[in-house]
Amino acid sequence: MNKKTAYEIFDILKDLIKYPKTELIYSTDFELLVAVILSAQCTDKRVNLVTKDLFKKYNTPIQFAGLKQEELENLIHPCGFYKNKAKNIIEASKVIVEKYNGCVPQDFDELVKLPGVGRKTASVMLIVAYNLPAMPVDTHVFRVSNRIGLAKTNNVLECENQLKKLYNKDDWGNLHHLLILFGRYYCKAIKPQCENCVLKNYCSYFSKNNK
Ligand code: SF4
Repeated sequence: MNKKTAYEIFDILKDLIKYPKTELIYSTDFELLVAVILSAQCTDKRVNLVTKDLFKKYNTPIQFAGLKQEELENLIHPCGFYKNKAKNIIEASKVIVEKYNGCVPQDFDELVKLPGVGRKTASVMLIVAYNLPAMPVDTHVFRVSNRIGLAKTNNVLECENQLKKLYNKDDWGNLHHLLILFGRYYCKAIKPQCENCVLKNYCSYFSKNNK
């Protein structure tokens, strides 16, 4: 796909989705980090339900660093994978307190050194919390960009690189949110709404399945 077509798709998505923002609710960058770690294999809706109570009790790295793993496990249980998530959140909080003076690092290479923080989580922190360029690829971004033809790959990192080549740095954050929300509400994993889709004239998946 060329840049011109890629930007036509971008403009259509911008018309369709007026507020391309994260649906996670947070009030500090540290809260966002905890919410993003919790959101692995879990819906944002469920994370928001859990963090609504969790952040009333604890919301700083010092507080999380001092928690017993079992207590945190109980508090985040509905998010799934709660043992690993609790362990990672506590360990990451300890590193933030000890190494970064209680402040979440704003650098990709430092973020991915934190326990439980991979490429996608670090990239989300950059675009959402710090307004820095990054292109996080989650399950929706991966599926939707491959279906449309913005990317053609089985590999998440390649998908990220292909999207980065097609779009200007300043647009990566917006594109990420547009593709997530489009995937969540329109181009769903099961039964995408192809017949009524605003992108059907551009979409590889649609043309392949409607010959
Ligand atoms: S036509 Fe179908 S597969 Fe293509 S983008 Fe739209 S909903 Fe997704």
